[in-house]
Amino acid sequence: MSGVILIHPPAISKRYLQTKFMPYGMGVLYAFLKARGVPVAQYDFLMDYLYDDPEAIDFHNRENSFTENDFFGVLEGRGPGHEGLCGFAGKYGSMLPSDGKIYAFSIIAYHQFWASLLLARHIKRVNHQAVVVFGGPFITIRPIESFVVYGQADYWIRGNGETPLLRLYQACLPAPDEEKIGRIPGIVYIRDGAVIRNPRSRCSAEEEPPPDFEGLDRERYTYDHPEAGAGALFLPYRTSKGCPTGCSFCTGRLVDRYSTKSARKIVNELSFLSERYRTKAFMFTDASVNGNESLLSDVCESIADTIPGARWYAYARMEGCSPRLLERMRKAGCFSLFWGVESASPPTIRLLGKRFRVERMSEIIDASAALGIRNYIHLIYNTPHETTEDVKRFLGLVKRYCDNEQVVFVPHRFLLEARSRMCEHPRHYGLRDIRRFQTTVFEREQYLYEEEGGITHEIVRKRNEEHRRMLEPCLARIETRNSRDAVIREQM
Ligand code: SF4
Repeated sequence: MSGVILIHPPAISKRYLQTKFMPYGMGVLYAFLKARGVPVAQYDFLMDYLYDDPEAIDFHNRENSFTENDFFGVLEGRGPGHEGLCGFAGKYGSMLPSDGKIYAFSIIAYHQFWASLLLARHIKRVNHQAVVVFGGPFITIRPIESFVVYGQADYWIRGNGETPLLRLYQACLPAPDEEKIGRIPGIVYIRDGAVIRNPRSRCSAEEEPPPDFEGLDRERYTYDHPEAGAGALFLPYRTSKGCPTGCSFCTGRLVDRYSTKSARKIVNELSFLSERYRTKAFMFTDASVNGNESLLSDVCESIADTIPGARWYAYARMEGCSPRLLERMRKAGCFSLFWGVESASPPTIRLLGKRFRVERMSEIIDASAALGIRNYIHLIYNTPHETTEDVKRFLGLVKRYCDNEQVVFVPHRFLLEARSRMCEHPRHYGLRDIRRFQTTVFEREQYLYEEEGGITHEIVRKRNEEHRRMLEPCLARIETRNSRDAVIREQM
């Protein structure tokens, strides 16, 4: 094969939303490399792991779990090796061609990173010439020191991966040329013990090719869906890259600069993909599908004309939405929207960097629900500086919509993310003394903070507990309703 092997890695935990999508980012890389004559193949092992591998390692399932010592024992080649971990790496490794030139991992989630380390080690043992590359959103948003230390990869790509991967392939023929590699944008590598970070490679949304899922088994991604019918295939597609909002608690801004595709490109590509993959169902992967209101309005009008019967869902934001736009979206086949509302309290909305008015939020949710669109409302509790008034507003919002079948709440506890604005500029957000809270390496790390005005870590902890107690009956009701209807899984 001696080309580029693209891998959407399995994971070390099945604590995943059990959804089925062809991997968008990998499909774009595949299309880009193929169009430039690079021999390329792609493998989606996450699907195998989640749906066809009941005996696989699973950190959060006691029966198939393992310890940190087991894991690092395998990674460092100590002792005979944990049977489950070795079997896992061997199983997925044996599905790959053994004569690839570059093995490029598209890592999205935390639990995929650990699986990639195991698999990369296996690849290197089987194919000594293999060049291993880690990329994807996980590598892009994480602090470099948090992944470079575990090695296994020869190069890491931060941000857009198309050009870096192409140039890396060219620079590795017939053998890696250090000088050429040193000039490739977007890559991180180690030379003489130092970590070298080249400036990011940029690629606007308009330059992005539509994904090509050649080699993936279409049927494996199909399922019965109440809106899209039996055997529906939801194709992932994005109209924009990056996020126009830049919330203070989120690292989404680090993935890409915000840019949009033109309406013509979007509609042409959706029509092409719809025909090619015999489906009219789409999942828009944009951070906010309505980041550019007039663009979305034009796109919706064209979809309604050119892909009649289309069905789609997306993430959206309150800012830049209107009842009129919702009407157009509904006509174009929108059946669900995911809103990153986070809070119903104006001070918290401001703190989190959201830019909408609470009254406007209710107007939008009401209009959307009245049109028959199902609305998934993400809410965060235990936010910094949270007051009992904030908790009351949370409860009030849930109460207002608790009997509305078109509204589903998805609550989360606040986590301070490394590299978020809040974490990088704590004083600006009234925070100080940020400390890492020790958990196992296989869990996302957590940070504790103090608040200005003498609010210590202990006071924050007690306040969070108290607020959590106040919310408990409401959270339990939400959970019961969501699991009763299996709404999260089946209606998406
Ligand atoms: S939370 Fe959503 S809207 Fe806010 S920055 Fe992150 S991706 Fe963008």
